[in-house]
Amino acid sequence: MAQVPPFYCLQQLVYHTNDQCPQAQDIPLTNQLAGTGEKVACLCCHHLNKAQQKKKVGYNVLRRFTSWKNRLT
Ligand SMILES: [Zn+2]
Repeated sequence: MAQVPPFYCLQQLVYHTNDQCPQAQDIPLTNQLAGTGEKVACLCCHHLNKAQQKKKVGYNVLRRFTSWKNRLT
């Protein structure tokens, strides 16, 4: 459920970088090849990674706030 190193399959025109991508989940494990295969990046993966990065940033801000609060008490 996260960003993963790029992988592709011979049947698709794009490579994937997120294991939550529906297109990536269509690829049987045995057909997955490591790397980009000189294909174009999958747009769905791109959006998933961006959304997950945003979530991670929000979590870091919250942690920073918590440690700042702990320093005061
Ligand atoms: Zn994808």
